[in-house]
Amino acid sequence: MSRMETLPIFMKIRNRPCLVVGGGEVASRKVSMLERAGAQVTVVAPMLHPMLEQARAESRIRYLAATFEPALLEHAALVIAATDDEQVNRSVSAEAQKRNIPVNVVDAPELCTFIMPSIVDRSPLLVAVSSGGVSPVLARMLRARLETLIPASYGRLAAFAADFREAVKRRFSTSQQRRIFWEDVMQGTIGEQVLSGQEQAARLAMEQALSGNTESMYGEVYLVGGGPGDPDLLTFRALRLMQQADACVYDKLVSKEVMALVRRDAELIYVGKSRDQHTLPQEDINQLLVRLAKEGKRVLRLKGGDPFIFGRGGEEIETLMENDVPFQVVPGITAANGVSSYAGIPLTHRDYAQSCLFTTGHLKDGTVNLDWPALVRPNQTVVIYMGLVGLPEICRQMMTHGASPDLPIAIIQQGTTQRQRVVDGTLETLPGLVEQAGLRAPCLIIVGEVVRLREKLAWFVPSPAAESAG
Ligand code: SAH
Repeated sequence: MSRMETLPIFMKIRNRPCLVVGGGEVASRKVSMLERAGAQVTVVAPMLHPMLEQARAESRIRYLAATFEPALLEHAALVIAATDDEQVNRSVSAEAQKRNIPVNVVDAPELCTFIMPSIVDRSPLLVAVSSGGVSPVLARMLRARLETLIPASYGRLAAFAADFREAVKRRFSTSQQRRIFWEDVMQGTIGEQVLSGQEQAARLAMEQALSGNTESMYGEVYLVGGGPGDPDLLTFRALRLMQQADACVYDKLVSKEVMALVRRDAELIYVGKSRDQHTLPQEDINQLLVRLAKEGKRVLRLKGGDPFIFGRGGEEIETLMENDVPFQVVPGITAANGVSSYAGIPLTHRDYAQSCLFTTGHLKDGTVNLDWPALVRPNQTVVIYMGLVGLPEICRQMMTHGASPDLPIAIIQQGTTQRQRVVDGTLETLPGLVEQAGLRAPCLIIVGEVVRLREKLAWFVPSPAAESAG
C-alpha cells in the first residue's frame, strides 16, 4: 500500500470561529473559501485589502486592526496565516500547534498541519486535489482537467438523488439492490435528463421506475453536433455523450478526428449522406434511431457542425417525439462559424457587413433556387452551404441580379482540419480557379467584402505533413 502524506478529510466549520492572520489578497481568497463553507471568520491584520474591506462593511467578517497575538487563538476551530512576514507566520504555526488547533500557513508546507486542496465545486459534490504541497501547479492542472470532465450540473444530480433517497430505501430492502438501481438511474436516461435540465421529465421517470412499472429500459438518443472537423471544437457535453454511447449513427460529414473520440465499444452505423449516394434515406434514419433506442441503447446521432443548421435534426427529433423516445440536442459549432474563423474571414465587420445570411446552394435539376435579390444586397455577408457543385451557377446568378463581378468570394474545403484549403477570387474568377484547384467536399462558400480581410487576418496554417504522420 502506498503511503499517504496526509489524511484527506472534509471539515465541517459552519458557524464555527476561524481565524485568518493577514489582510492581503491571498488572505482574502482564503477568507472567501471559509465563507463559502459557512465559517465565522475573524481577520487580524494591520490593514485590509479592498475585498476584505467590503466583507467587513457588509458584516460578513469580524476585523481586528492589530497584529497577531497567541490569545486570539482561543476558541478558534482553525487558523490560517497569510502574511508576508515569516516571523509572524512561524509564530502563528507554533502557537496553534501548541494548542492542537489545525493551522495552515500559505506557501509554507513545513509550517502547516493541514493543507488546502484545489477543488472542483459541484456542491453538494466536492472533488479535492492535493499534491501534498509538493506541486500546487500540478494539482491545479489536474483540477482544470476535472473541471472539463465533470458536467457543471453534476451537483443537480446529487440534489436530485437526495430528494429520492428515502423513497428508494423504502422500495429496495438491500443495499446492493439500491446500488444497482442508483447506478442505472445515474448512468441512464434519468441521469441525463437531470444533467440536461429536463428535471420534470426525470422526476416523472423516477416515480415510474419506483412504482415498478419500468418502461425505463428504454434507451435514448443524443442528437449531437460534432462541429466542423477539428476535435478541439467539440463541446464538453458532446464529448461526454460520445464516450458513453452504445451505438453511433454518423454520416460522411463527421471528420475522422472527431470519430476517433467516440467510445471504442460503440457500434458504429454509417448512414452516408454524401452527395448523390444517399446510403440511407432520411425516413429510414429516423426509424433506425427509434429502433435502436427501443432496444434500450444509448444512441449517439452524431452530425457535422450543428444539428439544427442544414442538418435535418428537426426531422429526426420529430420522429423521436412521436415515438416517445427520450432525447437531447447538443449544439455544435456550425461550419459558417468554425470555417470562417480558421480561414481568417470575420463574418461581420463594422465597415463591410452588418448582417450575415446562411443559405444552401444545393443544386436541384441543374439549377439553384434561391432568393437572389436578397443575396445581392450590399453590406452583408452570404455563407453558402453545399455550394461546391453549384458554384458557377451561383456566381452567374449573383452577377445577373446586380452584384459586381469584382465582389470577393472564397471557398473553403474541409475547414478547421489539416486538409483545409482556401481558394479566393471574385464572382467572375472563382469558378475557373476552383476548377483548376480540384476541391473536394465539404466546401463552404463565403461571399462579401469581408473576404478581403483574409489577406491580413489568416492565422491558421494547416499542416498536411502532420496529417499524414498522424
Ligand atoms: N449541420 C452542418 C451542415 C450540414 S450541410 C453544419 O452546421 O455545419 C453540409 C455542408 O456543410 C457542406 O456541404 C459544407 O458546405 C458545409 N460544411 C460542413 N463542414 C464543413 C467544413 N469543415 N468545411 C467546409 N464546409 C463544411
